[in-house]
Amino acid sequence: MRTEINKFGYLQPTSVSDAVSLLTQYGGSARAISGGTDLLYQMKNQLTLLTPTTVVDISQLGLNQVAYSSSNGLTIGATTNITTVKNDPNVNQYYGALASAASGHTVQIANQATVGGNINQEVWCWYLRNNYDCWRNGGNVCYAIVGDNRYYHSLFGGNLCYAVHPSDLSPALTALGATLTVQGPGGSHTLTMEQFLPGVSIVDGRVKENSLRYNEIVTQINIPTPAAGAQQAYFRIADRTAIDFPLASCAVVATFNGTNVASAKIVLGHVATKPIRASSAESFLSGKELTEANIATAAQNAIEGATPLTHESLGANGLGQGNGFRTYILAGAVTNALRSLQSASPGVQPLVSTNPITV
Ligand SMILES: Cc1cc2nc3c(=O)[nH]c(=O)nc-3n(C[C@H](O)[C@H](O)[C@H](O)COP(=O)(O)OP(=O)(O)OC[C@H]3O[C@@H](n4cnc5c(N)ncnc54)[C@H](O)[C@@H]3O)c2cc1C
Repeated sequence: MRTEINKFGYLQPTSVSDAVSLLTQYGGSARAISGGTDLLYQMKNQLTLLTPTTVVDISQLGLNQVAYSSSNGLTIGATTNITTVKNDPNVNQYYGALASAASGHTVQIANQATVGGNINQEVWCWYLRNNYDCWRNGGNVCYAIVGDNRYYHSLFGGNLCYAVHPSDLSPALTALGATLTVQGPGGSHTLTMEQFLPGVSIVDGRVKENSLRYNEIVTQINIPTPAAGAQQAYFRIADRTAIDFPLASCAVVATFNGTNVASAKIVLGHVATKPIRASSAESFLSGKELTEANIATAAQNAIEGATPLTHESLGANGLGQGNGFRTYILAGAVTNALRSLQSASPGVQPLVSTNPITV
């Protein structure tokens, strides 16, 4: 692993259109920098394809406000830091899944990292981050398919690269129906989270999981007002309680008819190259009470279709080689997210809280 940052150019525009013009002018050798918690890490490790020669600082574009109205919902400027989102009273009152997802960081990272950076962060695959010549780094192999793939690799297949999308905010934003305002050289347009994160593909000659072009910037995240009476949860399970990405996570937004689920949107995080809907669990729960038995069936439905990666040298452990053990962790994340909803039947309690990190 390299530990030095090479000399680089630094530009600090004060308007979105100037930032887009600069990124266009540098034609892919420049990248936007927001909080820098991910990009500087990539530059420090001198990742072959991902180290820019120039950074365009987007922190002074006036994109750091959070606003809420009952008619328009929530808008979050892309350079708002995660602490601001976590502490915002409207986020806590109306968007509990997002408040919870924003609580998974250490204080230090949350104070510096921004919402736009969080959803745009590069994968944390240990092969890429150690500068292996994998697909994302200019090579033509995914080392996770043949190497150790226990932690940060997909349970639900992949295309070229099998690293999971790492963001905690993305599953919650997907469940909440968020859209992104994106500014490029041709003006601004709107993307749903599903359009923004289609899974791994080649964009501007690079293997990546989001659809943003090299000269586009996310300026705003927009979340509609939740339906009356909607209940939400986000539950993450990590190996350690501090400074760790989840092994699996689940965001749920549900509406109820009395004590029965009217509709449920269940989004699985950290188990695929994008946040994925657990459609069969959603259909199963429709019209049913959130009893312990129904929650258990929904959790089983959610892990149907998982195709864990194997890795022979890790040896058989009864749970499947490679990353198969994480299907059980995923079922646990779904179970606890559903148990956390207020309409869960009496006696159904989450096993542990999402335990916001306070170090
Ligand atoms: C020790 C550590 C622990 C972490 N743990 C977690 C965790 O548990 N959960 C989790 O979700 N994340 C975790 N992260 C990742 C962290 O959340 C991201 O590094 C951070 O959110 C990135 O935001 P940033 O503003 O620093 O982005 P930057 O580092 O500035 O940028 C990251 C990438 O996003 C692009 N970018 C940034 N803003 C925009 C924008 N508005 N439009 C277009 N592109 C943009 C940049 O060009 C760059 O490619 C962790 C990181 C570290 C270092």
